[in-house]
Amino acid sequence: MKPVICKYCHKPIEKRDQLVTLSNYLQIRPYHYVCYQKVEENTKTVWKLTTPLNGITANIRLVLLLLIAGWFLFTETYGAAGIVIAIISLYSIIFHITSYFLFDQRIPK
Ligand SMILES: [Zn+2]
Repeated sequence: MKPVICKYCHKPIEKRDQLVTLSNYLQIRPYHYVCYQKVEENTKTVWKLTTPLNGITANIRLVLLLLIAGWFLFTETYGAAGIVIAIISLYSIIFHITSYFLFDQRIPK
């Protein structure tokens, strides 16, 4: 299997606990944990566009997003606005899942 290459230092990521995946616009990018911190430092001053897609915080967010999406899809809360919220949540959920299959799964624990 092709190794996952860090977008910052261009070296392969060998362990899953070193991996941080970020969504940036419509792309998902893999980084080493150390490299992610450098990317984070560089972007913080301008605009915070990067949100990790893996790790504990991301998993908690994923559960919350699923609950939110589920709630607004299966109830009538806020009507059309609720549907929009559900779609935005689903979009984010798809990113999490894609990131998992594209990167997390390819790297041994
Ligand atoms: Zn790196």
